[in-house]
Amino acid sequence: MTIWFATGNAHKRAELAAILAPHEVKMPSDAGLAFDPEETGDTFLENSLIKARALYDLVKAPVVADDSGLCVDALGGRPGVLSARYGSENGAKLKDGDRNALLLRELGSARDRSARFVCAMVLLLSHDRFFVAHETLEGEIIHGERGSGGFGYDPILYLPDQGKTVAELTADEKNALSHRGKAGARIASILASL
Ligand code: IMP
Repeated sequence: MTIWFATGNAHKRAELAAILAPHEVKMPSDAGLAFDPEETGDTFLENSLIKARALYDLVKAPVVADDSGLCVDALGGRPGVLSARYGSENGAKLKDGDRNALLLRELGSARDRSARFVCAMVLLLSHDRFFVAHETLEGEIIHGERGSGGFGYDPILYLPDQGKTVAELTADEKNALSHRGKAGARIASILASL
């Protein structure tokens, strides 16, 4: 089956394609489609559904959408749904490294470093028929970046059980543990049961 993934993020597509194989995972840019819906929801799930429905309206075929981000307890759960836009000025997004540096500065020497990646993933089969998987990856914010894999906040989320940051995991290791990997595995089993 061809599954359309409501993202412009090639890293996320690579992660999902590995999880949903042998299904083919396409993203809007593969078909030259402009896709940048406004994420107006207050929750990951609302934004995921917004993206899924917006892409479904374009392709009229099964769609997977994810909305994800980093929730830091000492920051009251921020940046949360605003993770991609954290530190943006006048709509210009920061580079990953600059965003991580900003978050480390804001957190300062806080003793509570607990944080998690959250992913709300939606499989939308028609406008009103959908399945949801909501998953997390628990960790701690370390004091400086470590590792060069992955993307986004991966170099600053440390996983005590692994003794590594997410950016120090291989792609397969990250997929086995991560918020998106676990949500994708649930969606894969739903797809297999259809
Ligand atoms: P979205 O594309 O609106 O879901 O934005 C998600 C943002 O959250 C990304 O741009 C990253 O900054 C962050 N994020 C989500 N998942 C991950 C991950 O697996 N690793 C690192 N950062 C992530």
